Amino acid sequence: MNRKLYLLGLVLINALVIAHSSSSPILSKDATLLDNHHTNEEIFEIMYKINEKCPHITHIYDLGRKSANNTALKVIVFSDNAQIHEPMEPEFKYVGNMHGNEVIGRELLIELAQQLCDLYLDNNEDVVKLVDSTRIHLIPTMNPDGWNLAALNEFKMWEKKEPSKFKTLHEMLREVGTTDWLYGRTNLNQVDLNRNFPDLDAYEYKYVKENKNRFDHLLAESSYEINQKHFDCNFKQFQNETLAVASWIVNNPFVLSANFHGGDLVVNYPYDDSNNHETKYSATPDDEFFTEIASFYADLHANMTKKNRKKCDMVADDFKNGITNGANWYPVCGGMQDFNYLSSNCFELTIELGCDKFPAGKYLKQYWKDNMHALYEFIWKAHSGIKGYVLDSNDQPVSGARISVEKFYPEIGDYVLIKHHITTNEDGEYWRLLTDGIYKISAIAPDNSVSGKAVVEVISEPREEAMRVDLKLVDDSSRAKRRLLKNLERLFREQ
Ligand SMILES: [Zn+2]
Repeated sequence: MNRKLYLLGLVLINALVIAHSSSSPILSKDATLLDNHHTNEEIFEIMYKINEKCPHITHIYDLGRKSANNTALKVIVFSDNAQIHEPMEPEFKYVGNMHGNEVIGRELLIELAQQLCDLYLDNNEDVVKLVDSTRIHLIPTMNPDGWNLAALNEFKMWEKKEPSKFKTLHEMLREVGTTDWLYGRTNLNQVDLNRNFPDLDAYEYKYVKENKNRFDHLLAESSYEINQKHFDCNFKQFQNETLAVASWIVNNPFVLSANFHGGDLVVNYPYDDSNNHETKYSATPDDEFFTEIASFYADLHANMTKKNRKKCDMVADDFKNGITNGANWYPVCGGMQDFNYLSSNCFELTIELGCDKFPAGKYLKQYWKDNMHALYEFIWKAHSGIKGYVLDSNDQPVSGARISVEKFYPEIGDYVLIKHHITTNEDGEYWRLLTDGIYKISAIAPDNSVSGKAVVEVISEPREEAMRVDLKLVDDSSRAKRRLLKNLERLFREQ
């Protein structure tokens, strides 16, 4: 090729790559709701106002149980048919304020809800495409009682210390937020909700050690922990908030999720616990996808990956590129992200939004600016990899089929099994999050019939839906018949 043309080609390719990777932010930098923190009642009021403004794309529902102090755990969901799951639409969730005094996430989520509604009404092409093709669940507060404890304790403290300093709770929230590092972290019963999920890691490590790993969801183990043992790994009873969210995770076809915390600035990915609770890197079988998606959020954040940013005060806070494996930072037993991965199809990250857990309300707009691009693009990531149906020989969808995935590695010239199965939902649908590459995909039905292996090249395009790969099970009886005929033929030839 002519050298000039070749160089021009390279320049054009580079320009295209840059244009693609630096896609401009969709959401507005200017938050309209974030002049100050909001009480639980105010958060719920805003959710209902958004629902009134955008009734055709939103729906509000409560989780099955209330908080220890009897406050509803409210979710606002966005989609073109928000009340129902629609075929081939992935379900996504953001969870805020699991630790009551880690509050940035809950404020970001109401602003996100507001902007999704407004941009949809403005006919923003990309928001319409995202909302129409995805079901997005936002729960601003998983621990409303903890938030109350943190805020009211701080206000009482100021009343004693300097009675004339703040006239109202809101004035205090706007000027200082809260200053206590731990108060309000737990729920009303003083239980840390991110240590209160059934400890499925222990089963997983045991099965791997004994070579009995089924690469499967540990549902029977979850039931045993909740119904027979009743206690988490810190000997605390399972709490209403935990049980409500655990059922929510298992009962919905969630694909991707993030859980917001504070106290540091980093994206944390599973596993959160190691085989002996020691601090060490503990990779899931999907480590490639988790590291990629964790970096995706960190890179789009305004300063998470900045080398010269001021470190927070937490121990072992020395992150490369704004991400960390959970157990490599500090091991957590009974955490929510590992429960997502080991009990359901959902992949969850834990995102630490800043050194301050409960910053002064006047700074919230800056947190919005820092996160809004990442917050939006991360939802699109529910469309990574492939999706499709598993069908029987009569083209009927098969529920409970397991999707097995092998990735091709050119350096070894072979396929390697990812030892984690995704299971089809009751409508026979699946979504399999994957990094780009060449894969062999197959399905195994509950009756052990299998599909052929589809070889696919996965290329996830930004802001596009996942590639569709339907898998058809081979009818066992016709397979047996073919095998018999083949054998008869061979015998006939050998005679
Ligand atoms: Zn936390």
